[in-house]
Amino acid sequence: MANPPGYDEMHNYKHPKKVNFKLTLFWVEKAGDPSAKVLEKAKKLLKPHNLGLDVFPASRTPAMTLKWDGKIEVSPELAKEQALKLRALCHSAYPSGHGRLPVIFAPFSSLSGGDPCRTTGWTISGTNWLPFVIVNADRVAADNVTLLHEIGHAGLGGGHPGEKGSETNFMSYGTNRTGMLKTQILKLVKAYFAAQAK
Ligand SMILES: [Zn+2]
Repeated sequence: MANPPGYDEMHNYKHPKKVNFKLTLFWVEKAGDPSAKVLEKAKKLLKPHNLGLDVFPASRTPAMTLKWDGKIEVSPELAKEQALKLRALCHSAYPSGHGRLPVIFAPFSSLSGGDPCRTTGWTISGTNWLPFVIVNADRVAADNVTLLHEIGHAGLGGGHPGEKGSETNFMSYGTNRTGMLKTQILKLVKAYFAAQAK
């Protein structure tokens, strides 16, 4: 059966100009490093839409490793304090990060139950910093979409589509997410960390 009218335009949208999302990566000491697999998955899902990533640095370096040995707490107040501390450390490590989304790989305290999004990644917005992302260094989603999902929160704000049929969308809680909608893409390319590819 053919897709209904407008389906391809919405689901297989190709942005007319190549746009990259610019990321700066940070790690904390002694933590795991899921960066390679979540970066690879993000690039794979972005490519058909003429979107990509511009990542600095390409892999873990001592300069981008933050001296911090905690775990992100469950308590929202403590977690926010920790996030702000980490964000300040990022600024010391790499002050010239203008126009890039900071992504910090740090371990989370064991988070059973609760919001399935917040167990693997967390986007912090509404502070004096532009939105930034913390990815759980110990556990990302099984489909590895965690990083792209958090890029989505940083650029789109808002929550998770819950309606039937949206389980494959990258902003859903689905377990095998592959899709991005035209409406999401048109908003995401306006994010502070998006830039036309040179
Ligand atoms: Zn989420």
